[in-house]
Amino acid sequence: MTILPIRTLGDPVLKEICRDVESFDGSLRRLYEDMLETMYEAPGVGLAAPQVGLALRFFVFDPGASGGFGPGAVANPVLSEREGEQLEDEGCLSIPNLYHPTTRAMRVRVTGQDLDGKAVSLVGEGLVARIFQHELDHLNGFLFIDRLPDSERKHVLAEIRDLDLLKPVRWRREAGP
Ligand code: ZN
Repeated sequence: MTILPIRTLGDPVLKEICRDVESFDGSLRRLYEDMLETMYEAPGVGLAAPQVGLALRFFVFDPGASGGFGPGAVANPVLSEREGEQLEDEGCLSIPNLYHPTTRAMRVRVTGQDLDGKAVSLVGEGLVARIFQHELDHLNGFLFIDRLPDSERKHVLAEIRDLDLLKPVRWRREAGP
């Protein structure tokens, strides 16, 4: 298993609308194992393929002991049956050290395919529902900060400018042509 570099805010792959997984073979299983290892090492509870540079509709998750199930992965996920609402701190491995209260549905169903291409249908509540919604957003080029109301997003972007994460981007801009 390999720990993969995690792409961070500003990387164009995080803005891509990902393409469907079409091959359910050994390379998808290797990707699953590498992404899980990468997620555990970070540490995190979910990781989407674009975060490791692959614009593929695929994510892994493991909410830990409290989540009820996992680790697992879903290919070509579709979200349905959104119910209720929750407002909890959310973070993202692609925006290190930033957490912000983010509204999500309390309960969702995700349908898609497992590593063998077989149909799966998972119902997640609370943290698991939050992970599903967060990871699915990644596959459509959205980050959790894109889900915040405009006024909060402005504050969060200001906070991000103060983090080390974006310093290289600023430097490039200042040094650019
Ligand atoms: Zn994320």
